[in-house]
Formats: sequence, structure tokens, C-alpha cells
Amino acid sequence: MVDWLADYYENIETYPVKSRVKPGEILDKLQDMVPNLPESMDTIMNDFNEIIMPGITHWQHPKFFGYFPSNTSYPSILAEMLTAGLAQQGMMWETSPAATELEERVMVWLRRLCGLPSHFTGVLQDTASTSTLVALVSARERISNYSINKAGFTDNKRYRVYCSTETHSSIDKAARIAGFGSDNLVKVPVDGRHGMNSKALKEAIYDDLDEGYIPCCVVATVGSTGVGAVDPLREIGQLCKEFKLWMHVDAAYAGTAMVLPIMRNLIIGLDLADSYVFNPHKWLFTNFDCSAYYVADKEALIRTFEILPEYLKTDTRGKVTDYRDWGLQLGRRFRALKLWFVLRNFGILRIQHMVTRHLEMAEWFSEMLALEPDFDLMAFTRFGLVCFRYQPNGLKDDSFVDKLNQQLEKQLNESGKMLISHTVVKGKYTLRLVVGQTNVEQRHIEAAFDQILETARKLPLTED
Ligand SMILES: *Cc1c(COP(=O)(O)O)cnc(C)c1O
Repeated sequence: MVDWLADYYENIETYPVKSRVKPGEILDKLQDMVPNLPESMDTIMNDFNEIIMPGITHWQHPKFFGYFPSNTSYPSILAEMLTAGLAQQGMMWETSPAATELEERVMVWLRRLCGLPSHFTGVLQDTASTSTLVALVSARERISNYSINKAGFTDNKRYRVYCSTETHSSIDKAARIAGFGSDNLVKVPVDGRHGMNSKALKEAIYDDLDEGYIPCCVVATVGSTGVGAVDPLREIGQLCKEFKLWMHVDAAYAGTAMVLPIMRNLIIGLDLADSYVFNPHKWLFTNFDCSAYYVADKEALIRTFEILPEYLKTDTRGKVTDYRDWGLQLGRRFRALKLWFVLRNFGILRIQHMVTRHLEMAEWFSEMLALEPDFDLMAFTRFGLVCFRYQPNGLKDDSFVDKLNQQLEKQLNESGKMLISHTVVKGKYTLRLVVGQTNVEQRHIEAAFDQILETARKLPLTED
């Protein structure tokens, strides 16, 4: 298996980045039934190569530029092997003292590495979606004096959650599941650079107070999924303090950029936040899943999620950390191990160097593109994310240009040579290219640049 993986990485550039299978193609090839008798590993591996591999989209390909990266690295893979082999259950200290104490240590490391406020305490969750749900449930409990956990939503109070129109869909999901209801998620307008307009937030809060709602929580974003926008944390934080609202900050992807002190002006005001999430499993070279969740007041977190049935009672209770009280799950994977391997094997300087290189390459790409008269940059290039649109001179019909860009995306992805994704900016179909893959180098960006220009300019400029 290790040899297989070593070969895979050696040859990864020979695979088509995006899988070419049709819907149902893999399913049709899989046996209907569990075999009665054991099958050999050779047979299984053979099917893996023949059936599964064609259906793999290669996220670790250096020319995977879509969505946000979901990186891994050698130290991460090796540690994940140990994690699988040891198969720990880190639900509480007694069930795995090492999983617990290593997690405590790496969460402090990560906090320092990213220059996060020193009063933050961290815990690993599976995903940012879960972390945000944990934040919203905590906000709900704190504002209700921990009564909703016990009695449910009994009164007719309607609690409100605020986020910007650019916020990730996981906030919508969390607002539903935490019981606020999507009708009580207020989407605040953004300003020219797509960050939340804090004046509009203040107005929304006042309007809600006038109408008898109870403002409860604001979710601010650092590095929105569409265009990498940053909400003004300090202004939002001051409003949260003034109105006693929970402030949650979602930096799922962009949080990794904070390894560079020069980026930290973007998180000024984070010390006012109640909770913060970023995913080492995106940009920080640690394989999925690994989401770092930080809180200002860990007692509020524990009070919300603590549960103590007889079969989980231990002598060490209260003297140690029992992470089952820090989130949704009881059973927990040993995620800290891969983070420990990655942080040690890379070291701060190499991590900083790689992130700096990613930012520089994205800068190069967007500056080069800006020189082309038939391409527009659709947002400020930030966190390695370039948002652009093919806009041939003289073409005024936006919906036709939208179609051209859709075709461009499709042709690039079908070429197998690269993968990009898209968003919509101010109503216009916009292509997204993210430079953040573990293995990406300048030559990959240059080849992608040439291919994009060449492919775009071959598209027919008439409707049929
Ligand atoms: C990716 C992303 C998420 C969701 O992350 P998961 O870990 O997949 O749940 C949330 N917010 C932002 C801004 C993201 O980029």
C-alpha cells in the first residue's frame, strides 16, 4: 500500500484531474452482494485499480485549482496510517490519554502558529460545518441561560442570527439544525469588497429589537467561499459586545494564511470573538478531516455539551479534559496525531514559505490575466483565490458571456489537465482558480494560464 501510494504521487500528473466517469458507471461495476467467502487482498486491490480509480477526482493533483484545496502531505498520510492502525477512541481522557493530551498540546501550538488570541482554547472537530453548529448551539444556550437544552424552545421568543449574503451554506444549515430556523437567519448586505456592511448589521439589529426579536449571534467570515471576502471583525465585534451577542468567526479556508504575521491585520478584532473555526484539512497540508475550533470561554462550551451517563463516569473527571463534552460526538478520531506530524515535519518556516509561495503564484496569475484585454478580474485576489471572467471585447450580452464562461470551465475540466470551479459575482458567472495545493509549483500555474487563454480564444463567439 505504501508503495502504491508512493507510485501514485510520483505519477499523479499523468491522471486526468477530474474523473471522467458518467453517473452510475461505478455503481454498475460493483458486486451486488457481500461475498460469502473471503476474497484475497489482490482481488480487492485489482478491483480498486480497475473500478474505483477511474472514479477518483485527484484533489492532490498540483493542477487541482477548484473549490478550496483539501490538502494532504507525506507526514499527514503516515500519521493517518498510525491513527487507523491504533484505532483510538478519544471520547474521554481515560479511553485515550495520549489522544487527549496531544490534542491539548497541538491546539496551543496551532493557536500560537496562527497568532490567535491567547485566551482562546481549542478542540478538533470533524468539519467547519460541525464547528459552526457547535457555535450556534452554544450561542443559543448562553442567551437562554442554558434553558433550551433542558426545556426546548418553549416561549415565543424568536432568536436571530446574522451573517452576510456571502456566507457559506453551512451557516444556513446550522441555523436550521440549532433550532433558530432559516427565517431567523438574517443575511446582511455586503460592501464593495464583499465584506459585511457593519452599518447594515447595526440597522438589522435595531430593526429586530423594534419588532420584538432577540438578537443572539453574528457569524463573520474571513475568506468567503465565493470570492475570499473578509468581514470587518472589529466593527462586528464591538456591536456584539454592545448588544451581548455571540460572535462566531468562520475562517475555514483562509485561517491558514494567519501563519504569516503580515496577514494578521485581517483578523484584528478577533479577540472580541466567542468562537473561531479554521480547517487545517483545507490549506494546512493535513488530510481531511481536521477542523480547529477555538472558544473564548470553554466553560460555556462544556456547559452546553456536557453529558454524564453512568457508564461514562470516571475517577479522573474534573482533573482532565474529556473531549466528548466539547462537541456533538461521543466517539472521536485521533486527529491530533496527523497535525502533530505535519507541524513538526514541516516546521514553521517551511509552512510559512509554502503559503507565501501560494500567495505569490496567485498574484502572478492575476497580474498576468489583468494584462489580457479579454479577461476581467471579478474580485480582489486574496488568499490565493483568483476570480475571473472571460469577456471578449464588444460582447455586451451578459447571459451569452455567462454561457461562454460555463463552456470554458467545462472544456478546461474535461481536458483532464486542470480543474477549476465557479461562483457568481454581482450576477455574473465567474471562474475561480485557487492556488493552494500542496504540490503546486509556478510551472503548473504558467501551464494553466496558457491553457485558459488558448481554450477561451477558441470558443465560438456566436450563439450556435
Ligand atoms: C469550506 C468552508 C466551509 C465548510 O467546511 P467543512 O469543513 O467542509 O464543513 C465553511 N465555511 C467556509 C468559509 C468554507 O470555505
